[in-house]
Amino acid sequence: MAPTTEKTDVAIIGAGPVGLFAVFECGMLRMRCAVFDALDAPGGQLTALYPEKPIYDIPGYPRIDAAVLVEKLAAQAAPFRPVYHLGRPVTTLAATGDGGFRLSTQAGTAVEARAVLIAAGVGAFGPNRPPLAGIDAYEGGAVRYLVTRRDDFRGKRVVIAGGGDSAVDWALSLAEIAARVMVVHRREKFRCAPESAARMKALAEAGRIEIVAPFQLDALEGDGRTLAAVIVKSLDGAVRRLEADFLLPFFGLAMTLGPIATWGVSSRAAPSR
Ligand SMILES: Cc1cc2nc3c(=O)[nH]c(=O)nc-3n(C[C@H](O)[C@H](O)[C@H](O)COP(=O)(O)OP(=O)(O)OC[C@H]3O[C@@H](n4cnc5c(N)ncnc54)[C@H](O)[C@@H]3O)c2cc1C
Repeated sequence: MAPTTEKTDVAIIGAGPVGLFAVFECGMLRMRCAVFDALDAPGGQLTALYPEKPIYDIPGYPRIDAAVLVEKLAAQAAPFRPVYHLGRPVTTLAATGDGGFRLSTQAGTAVEARAVLIAAGVGAFGPNRPPLAGIDAYEGGAVRYLVTRRDDFRGKRVVIAGGGDSAVDWALSLAEIAARVMVVHRREKFRCAPESAARMKALAEAGRIEIVAPFQLDALEGDGRTLAAVIVKSLDGAVRRLEADFLLPFFGLAMTLGPIATWGVSSRAAPSR
């Protein structure tokens, strides 16, 4: 059977908080929406990067966990029955010639819409990965670039690499439940909130966190699945072997707009017809 093309009023690219709230706003104007996201679940950065982090700057909520905010945004959108296409990155956008647009995904899903709302945030995002031989074999297991379930680290030996807020915040948090937390940074000074740095120093003095600085990641030791140790080196060549179950590198995120950058849309230009 030939694939059918879904028709809708508004196609929304991105099911992050902006895309989800746009479904509600469009619904209030009696417009139906189809929502695309490259990720398998709605919520954008909140779902992918920090579902358990509390957020303090949402009007009406003094504090709300990111995953709960996503649930509430999805519930607010639900009465307008959006059609979700999750796990479907939109790869092409073209004008149909009658004032509308046609979107399609690599998987072959096609939607025609009278308007398109690009709520793609920073686009597709991914972590900056340390250049360690064989690291890809451990990614998603012993090497993780984000913490989606804090409890995975209970009773484990964790090496955290990086000197910014993410590295320090997770060191403080995991020190409460991990067997051992080691923070590897290439400088003595950390680039995080001064209060967090002070708390980490106090925990280091109490023996709850070990600060391994100035050192850099050098190699991973393990069987390609289970990690045995993280090898670190100082600039003057000193080598240390840190026995560990997990490595959490927090070196920031690389953002890419992906196909959107080739569609000819910007704040001033509409797609060419
Ligand atoms: C660690 C961290 C902590 C943060 N904490 C806070 C905080 O406490 N308070 C606060 O206000 N903000 C915070 N932010 C910022 C906040 O997460 C963003 O401002 C917010 O996610 C932007 O929402 P969005 O919907 O515009 O985009 P995003 O959340 O980036 O969602 C965009 C979605 O578009 C999808 N997408 C992109 N391109 C395509 C494509 N071609 N096809 C299909 N889908 C596509 C992506 O997969 C993504 O799911 C934080 C950010 C990070 C990284």
